[in-house]
Amino acid sequence: MRLDGKVALITGGASGIGLATVRKFVREGAKVLIADINFDQAQAAADDIAGEGFQGNVAAVGVNVAVFAEVEAAVARAVEVFGRLDVIFNNAGIAGGRPLLDHDPDVDYAPMIRIDQDGVYYGILAAGRQFRDQGTGGVIISTSSIYGEQAAELAFTYSAAKAAVISFTRSAAYELAEFGVRAVAITPGRVGTAIINQFSDELKTTFASEQMRNVMTEPEEIANVVAFLASDESNVINGTVVHVDDGYSSF
Ligand code: NAD
Repeated sequence: MRLDGKVALITGGASGIGLATVRKFVREGAKVLIADINFDQAQAAADDIAGEGFQGNVAAVGVNVAVFAEVEAAVARAVEVFGRLDVIFNNAGIAGGRPLLDHDPDVDYAPMIRIDQDGVYYGILAAGRQFRDQGTGGVIISTSSIYGEQAAELAFTYSAAKAAVISFTRSAAYELAEFGVRAVAITPGRVGTAIINQFSDELKTTFASEQMRNVMTEPEEIANVVAFLASDESNVINGTVVHVDDGYSSF
């Protein structure tokens, strides 16, 4: 199997893209620690997956990625439970926003930056140190967005955070190459998860029409790509962005 023997930490793994990736990784032979601010949902997901024949291959931990000590503790927990760390998927995030001139910086800027931007930085730093100390290399995959590469309505802060994720990825690949670490960012388009399901059916139809197949992307379709990026089959993909947007960015 593609991820046999690998240990992965997946933030935001209790829902959506993260949860689909947990399931895909486990089926590909990986051991996975689900790290999410919603611990109950993370534990329930871990119990479900364990019950499907993967006992001992999946566990859960509560983490707020906006707090460095909690991200460090999640990395340490992965090592404690599964003995090592090979992959971190920095995927936890929140979306939404208001028009720029309506912003209260304490509400519309700082909290989202702490989760969507700082959270990825913390994951790169904590996992990068673990990879260095282990001496085995590793893979860092981080979830940006189509909005990380363009301006969009009601996304002033979100776009900034997601652009930083791309920058972090390039710099991490550059700085950590000497330790055998790769870093890749993905840019999902419109994926049918809780983040998108908050919008009206009309808006969701519009979102789907912005992609080449005219449908909402399934989280499992993103997970398939993440599994490939986590595997040794993608060793030459490094320090770059993989567009998983069904052609959105080509329109
Ligand atoms: P989702 O809401 O289903 O999943 C997000 C998960 O992150 C949830 O389980 C949530 O509890 C967790 N989370 C939120 N804040 C956290 C925190 N501070 N610490 C730890 N966990 C936290 O949504 P999703 O669509 O699966 O989102 C996953 C990632 O994909 C996000 O980074 C999002 O910005 C990105 N993304 C989504 C889309 C889309 O269309 N759904 C498009 C582009 C990018």
